Amino acid sequence: MRKATYSTPAIILGMYEEYLVFTGRSNAGKSSIIREVVGLDVATGKHPGTTRRISKYALSGGLFLVDMPGFGRITGASKAEEERVADQIVRFLESNAQNIALVVHVLDISTFLEVTRRLEKKGLISLDAEMVQFLAKTLGYFPLVAANKIDKAGEEEITVNLEEFKYRISDGQPQVVGGYVFPVSARTGEGLGALKSAIHGRLVEKGYRTPFKTR
Ligand code: GDP
Repeated sequence: MRKATYSTPAIILGMYEEYLVFTGRSNAGKSSIIREVVGLDVATGKHPGTTRRISKYALSGGLFLVDMPGFGRITGASKAEEERVADQIVRFLESNAQNIALVVHVLDISTFLEVTRRLEKKGLISLDAEMVQFLAKTLGYFPLVAANKIDKAGEEEITVNLEEFKYRISDGQPQVVGGYVFPVSARTGEGLGALKSAIHGRLVEKGYRTPFKTR
């Protein structure tokens, strides 16, 4: 007869961690969103030569904010470094999926269509759409999306960008993802209240009461 083995749950060992993860392409405004919404000043690693790594910050009782390095084209980085960053992000998300309370993906919505059309001409798909779909698949639920920099274009242009983005992340059914995409401006503050409430609501559902720093 095989001997039963009991593994002590991580929570009893005091090792239990859950993550509020922020992802985004380099320069999307991720650090600005984290600062404005969570009240945390995260280090930026976008200057050539600085380390681009995953940073963890304790928020409250077992909940950590995870700031992913910006991915995609990184000014001053080699192709190999860009690939290393992307691999590191994918590996973290895949191996910690069970401990991820929520992911917030930040993108620059003001240039979404322009960038996407350029890529599509080369037969490539938008990195932001790809990331959001990868997150939904890996987590088993939709991430929240901060569609940032809405102050950078007119209302009509932003609306078109938003609709195209939602269309691409939902396999052509934008109404399904409407509740997950928040148009915001980290610069003017527009829309941040709604994003913050959504993050708060999701974390409260998971038993966290005070996920944000008070300022
Ligand atoms: P990260 O690389 O994603 O962490 O991006 P940062 O937060 O460092 O922002 C990149 C640049 O975009 C900075 O120059 C910010 O001032 C600017 N930025 C961030 N959010 C906004 C926004 O909502 N509107 C505008 N116009 N600029 C923004």
